[in-house]
Parts: sequence; structure tokens; C-alpha cells
Amino acid sequence: MEDLRDFIRHRVRRDLADGVVGGVVTRFPPEPNGYLTIGHAKSICLNFGIAREFGGKTFLRFDDTNPLKESQEFVDAIQRDVSWLGFPWGTVTFASDYFESLYQFAERLIEGGLAYVDSQSAEDVAATRGSFTEPGRESPYRDRTIDENRDLFRRMRAGEFSDGAHVLRARIDMAAANLVMRDPVLYRIRHATHHRTGDDWCIYPMYDFTHCLCDALEGVTHSLCTLEFENNRELYDWVLDNAGVNAHVPQIEFSRLNLEYTVMSTRFFRMLVDRGSVAGWDDPRLPTLAGLRRRGYTPETLREFCRRIGVTKQENRVEMELLEFCARHALEDDAPRGMAVLDPLPVTVTNYPSGEDEVLEAPWHQKRPELGTRRITFGRSLAIERDDFMESPPRRYRRLSPGEMVRLRHGFIIRCDEVIRRADGRPSELRCTYFPESKSGSDTSGLRPKGVVHWVSRSTAVASDVRLYDRLFRVPAPSPDNMEEELNPDSLTVCKALVEPALVEAEASRFQFERLGYFYKDPVDHSVTAPVFNRIVTLRDSYRP
Ligand code: ATP
Ligand code: MG
Repeated sequence: MEDLRDFIRHRVRRDLADGVVGGVVTRFPPEPNGYLTIGHAKSICLNFGIAREFGGKTFLRFDDTNPLKESQEFVDAIQRDVSWLGFPWGTVTFASDYFESLYQFAERLIEGGLAYVDSQSAEDVAATRGSFTEPGRESPYRDRTIDENRDLFRRMRAGEFSDGAHVLRARIDMAAANLVMRDPVLYRIRHATHHRTGDDWCIYPMYDFTHCLCDALEGVTHSLCTLEFENNRELYDWVLDNAGVNAHVPQIEFSRLNLEYTVMSTRFFRMLVDRGSVAGWDDPRLPTLAGLRRRGYTPETLREFCRRIGVTKQENRVEMELLEFCARHALEDDAPRGMAVLDPLPVTVTNYPSGEDEVLEAPWHQKRPELGTRRITFGRSLAIERDDFMESPPRRYRRLSPGEMVRLRHGFIIRCDEVIRRADGRPSELRCTYFPESKSGSDTSGLRPKGVVHWVSRSTAVASDVRLYDRLFRVPAPSPDNMEEELNPDSLTVCKALVEPALVEAEASRFQFERLGYFYKDPVDHSVTAPVFNRIVTLRDSYRP
């Protein structure tokens, strides 16, 4: 179904209606130099989404022109992530599939006097480019004859020269107002083994030459990219106009996704991974798709997030709260609920006989009776959250304190009679009385407890690692030069928690731990005997979209 919520979709519809294009072909062109981020998800949802909505086609095209940075590991990871996000049906291609054609196009430019082999050093090429206010200087090699250029370029391909000895440059205009047009480099020498083409090539085409030609060769009708390529559009068009492909593909730019408290930098994540500062590309603190997946985010949630942020030309930084809102919204109605205590404070129910635990039924979800019930154990030996007890509470305190009563969720009302302390004064155990006639659902006690707290039975709860994640950075907008300093040192806390056994044993993998948030069984480390839960998101919801 057609969806016209943004300027790009409007453009596509108009082009179809006007017969400018016969059908829609898009592409998502990642460089396999790292894992995809939620920023890429925006581009994936846009490119694949448009093709799906308008009955078109999408290429997942790997932009693999820099063998030094790229690898098969990243190709595999990207394919996995694109499928997981919900777009398994694209056609997979590689820029390297077109190396021979690209080479032929380069020769054609040479034949037309529109490209030349420059033998200046990379430093000299950079130093003679000029600035916004100064024109560039022409290379002394700019007027080589066509024969000489053809010969040198063929010998570059044949491997006669070392890295950096020559480059192929477009012959455009060293005084062009757009710096991108000042004789851009089209090919460079790289004696490096490529993950797909091996040692077949020792010259590799540059992005600006490769990208537009691959788009044309694949019949792409709308080449969608992020705003930093706006200046490159002129070169994109120049190459298509001059290399002898019979195609004009419009490049249309939109703004990148930036998220508060994180960055979208493959390079930076690669450094964190290489140094061991995070557990890997799928560390749940990273905004990589692999990290978000491992944290417990679903593809539906990420697609919904991308739908809500929309597509514009406006640069901004999206609040983390929107992503969290989407996650809560998706989990609220479906995730079964149970209890876990992250920082246990033992409670002994002194008027409950030892060894006579009883089983209570509790619904998996208050508002979804059809999800059924689970069994929880009540008895003499319990635990509550250390945070839910206070010795000298403020007025209107709604949890437990000496002499006061609270309801244990789905259980009974208890009263705290005595606090046992360690040598340092810290409470080590609460001795409480319970009221047998106050059972949840059939309470005839007439008592008025201060509040309701979650709890577990120490005789049945399962000791579990619970990983609480906080923001990767301490500041909402990390500065590119200072990223390491601005990392949040407390982005991961591991709790030795006690978890209700039904949660560990259940088939489901995502739960609400009552009052604590939504949690996911870690897909790598979790087992029934050594459970590991990741917190996806807290329950707190201040965001109003
Ligand atoms: P990095 O340098 O971190 O790898 P990139 O932009 O170079 O980022 P590519 O692999 O070249 O990453 O990107 C593939 C596609 O995804 C491009 O079309 C790019 O415009 C798009 N993309 C990348 N990051 C974002 C983002 N944050 N928001 C929207 N689109 C993005
Ligand atoms: Mg990149």
C-alpha cells in the first residue's frame, strides 16, 4: 500500500504518476566495515519500505571498495541484521561485482580526455586542492596525452606500481566552486587482498565513482542517501553524464538519524570492540542492531521507531525516550509479568511454620487473563528489595518500615516487627508477621497496608545475573573529539538477583519484572541453571509523543 508520509515518498509517487520511471528500484549500500546501527535502520526502512509500498525492488549492495577495512564477517553480520529487521527479500550485490565494468568506464573517461593519471603524492594532491576562498592548482601531470594516460592506467591495473605512486583523477575544474569537483580521485593503488576478489585487483575505485555507476547498472530509480553527500551530487551527475552510461539517476538526500546519549560511528565502535571496552559488536549498550537485538529490542519496535521519526532534511538529535517509549509500548500488553528482587533483603515470616510453603496462583498479566497463571511460593523465608525498606521513613512513605505493614504483591500483608543488623548497622534481615486472612483476592482482614511491594520466596527463587544498562555516554550530544572521555563509566551494573522460578522456566523470553522494567533472557549467556536477564527498558515513562 502506498504511504505518502514524507517528501521522498511524494517524489516517488509523482515520478511514477508522470511516467518518469516505470517502477521503483532502490538500494541500501552499506560498507562492510562494521556492524549496522539504528542509524542504518532508518535508511533500510526507507529504501526497503518504499520498494515494498510501491511494488518495486531493492538491492542490498555492499560498497566493498576498500579491502583494508572490510571483511566477510561484516558482510554476514549486515545480511543477518537486514533480514532480522524484517527485509529478507532484497537482491544482494557487491560493488566488487562491477569492478570490470567500472574499469571500462574509467578507460572511457580517459579516451574522452576526461581523466588523467596523476603522479603527485597524496599530500600534494590534498595541498593543491585550494579552499572555499582559493581555487586549487592544476597538477603538472594534468596534460598527459590520452595514450600516456591509457598506458599508465593499464600498468596501474597490472600491478607495476606501488601504493601511492599514481592515482586516476577526473579532469574537471580545479577552480570549481564545489571542492568535490576539483579533479577528484577516481582510482587508487592498493596492494591488498580483497575479501571477495582476492588479489585480482590492485587498483580500487573511489566511492564517488563507484556509487553512481553501480546505481545506474542496477537500474536504481531513486538513490537515497544522507545529507553529507549533498555536495557530492554534482560529481554523481558528472560521472553519469560523462562515463557513457545511458542513465540519469536522481540522488535525493535526507538527514541522518542521531540519537541522544550515543553516537552512530562505526569507527568509534570498532575501537571500543577492539580494545575490549565493550563485550563485542552485540554489546547491549551499543546502538548497533546486534546490540539492540541482544538487549531485547524487537524488529517491530525498531521499525515503529523509524516510522515515528520520519524522513526529512532537518538535522536533529532524537530523544532516547522515543526509542524507549516504542519498546514499552510494544511490551506492555504482551510481556508476561512476574517478580524478581535485584538487591535482596531477607524477610522471615515468624508466624509462618517452617517447611510448609504454600503455592499461590498469580496471573501472568493482569489485563490479559487468557495468558493464564503461574505458581508462586509463599512461606517463612522471603526476600524484598532493600530499597523497599526504610528505618526512619519520611511521612507518607509507601513501603515497609518498622512497625508498619505492606502488601506483598499477589500474597499477604506483612508487618515488620524487628530489624536484625550486621555489625556495621546495616539491616541483614527483617522479622515480620503475616496476616493469613489478608490473601490477595480474598482479603477479609480489613487492614490498611502502606503500599504494595514485590518479593520472592528464598526457598524457591533462582539466583540470576541481571544486567542493568544505562546510557553509553554521560552527555546528550557527545563531541566527536572527546568521545572517550564522555563515555559513561556506569553504563553496566550486574545484580545478583533472586528471580521467581516461573520466569526462568517459561518459554517466553521477554518479561516485565514488576516495578523494575522489561527484561530479556540473554540469548548468549542465559541458561535455566544460570539465568541471565538483560534489562531492555525501565517502566518509567515520562515521554509523551
Ligand atoms: P559509518 O561511517 O559510521 O560506517 P556510513 O554513513 O559511512 O557510516 P555506510 O555503511 O556507508 O555508513 O551507510 C550505508 C547507508 O546507510 C548509506 O546510504 C548511509 O547514508 C545510511 N546511513 C548511515 N548512517 C545513517 C544514519 N545515522 N541515519 C540514516 N542513514 C544512515
Ligand atoms: Mg561507512
